Amino acid sequence: MNSADFRIGVAPFANAPDIALKVIAGQFVGAFHIAADILSPMENPGYAFDSRRGQYNAALILKELETVRGTPRFADYEKVIAVLDVDLFVPIFSYVLGEARLGGTFALVSLYRLENDLQRAAKIALHEYGHLCNLAHCPDGSCLMHFSKGIAELDGLPLDYCRYCSLALQKECSCKRSSREVAPVPLRS
Ligand SMILES: [Zn+2]
Ligand SMILES: [Zn+2]
Repeated sequence: MNSADFRIGVAPFANAPDIALKVIAGQFVGAFHIAADILSPMENPGYAFDSRRGQYNAALILKELETVRGTPRFADYEKVIAVLDVDLFVPIFSYVLGEARLGGTFALVSLYRLENDLQRAAKIALHEYGHLCNLAHCPDGSCLMHFSKGIAELDGLPLDYCRYCSLALQKECSCKRSSREVAPVPLRS
């Protein structure tokens, strides 16, 4: 992939609302000057539904998505933010708002518990994007990469990374951008 071609895909599952997709895609364009495309919807990930918990297993969805990496649908995208309106879990937590592997290609953002608050969706998308770009959780409680257990903690975080994480992010992912876009663009909260 050419360095000028760094693109983000925003990939909805089932009936994730357009407005959330636009807000998430807009964050990447506005904050990073990274091109972001909204892809056509994928089928609800029924294979990941855990009938005992009544929730969807985030790890299973990520695993399935990694198997379609490189297929024509996703081949043009360096990172993909998949957006769902179902409740997600991982075994150690009662629920998760988002999930991504460090350095992975795909991240999940669940709208289910966000009460239509699109700033929350944007925060989760950028937090998970940080993980895709190899950023771990940040000890700084005023950094978007700080771990939040739920909505209340998420609401306490700014829509912005600390200086350390911003630089790490720029080094890990944004360095693949074209040279005319090297200057970091601060996020507005
Ligand atoms: Zn995290
Ligand atoms: Zn940080």
